[in-house]
Amino acid sequence: MKKRDFLRLSGTVAVGTMMIPMISCKTGDKDSNGEAKKVSQMEFELPDLPYGYAALAPAIDEQTMKIHHGKHHAGYVRKLNAALAESKGYEGNSLEEILAKVDPSETGIRNNGGGHYNHSLFWNIMSPDGGGEPSSDLAAAISADFGSFSEFRSAFTAAAGLFGSGWAWLIVTNEGQLAVCSTPNQDNPLMKNVSETTGQPILGLDVWEHAYYLNYQNRRSDYIEQFFSLIDWGTVEKHWKAAR
Ligand code: MN
Repeated sequence: MKKRDFLRLSGTVAVGTMMIPMISCKTGDKDSNGEAKKVSQMEFELPDLPYGYAALAPAIDEQTMKIHHGKHHAGYVRKLNAALAESKGYEGNSLEEILAKVDPSETGIRNNGGGHYNHSLFWNIMSPDGGGEPSSDLAAAISADFGSFSEFRSAFTAAAGLFGSGWAWLIVTNEGQLAVCSTPNQDNPLMKNVSETTGQPILGLDVWEHAYYLNYQNRRSDYIEQFFSLIDWGTVEKHWKAAR
């Protein structure tokens, strides 16, 4: 039996589990009068980085990390909470469940919910000790689905060259296979009503100019190449195992 057939038969459908522990949320407790607030909507919080702002330098410089996390990601979280406060139908949902349901016309939740999810995954799959290639099971799956690590890397690099702002992804498809795709803006493959390709993201690369322009200016391809020196394949493998 070929590996992908085995995956299709044995794969479980990932439900809305919190596969990324960094995405935390809280529920309201008291308002300014000390009255218990109605717990109708979760409030999302900016996760801390799992390393210092300078830890990924020189591949990603300290100032870019500070602005990217402290301004851009923080802004997505703030605007997501504001959009959810104005919306109905998402009470008690995890971020993954919200993204799976979001309608293309709900731009506040689509853009900022995507922004929060995408950046949380992005910080999570990089490490100052990253780089190299995945080992063992994930390496075998990449070879089975792409031919080789080198072919995966080429496909991912091509996806990251999308026109304009967006993200490149390595996902686990609904059939349990690995696939590469890209999405524009802050869309992602969890958005069943939005994204052409859907699945569970296990690795993502931000190619908005705010992610690299201070250090790389227009040299996006250099930034993509350096990103490979930061990928924490152990964490990616954990996401892969949780997703299939
Ligand atoms: Mn970004």
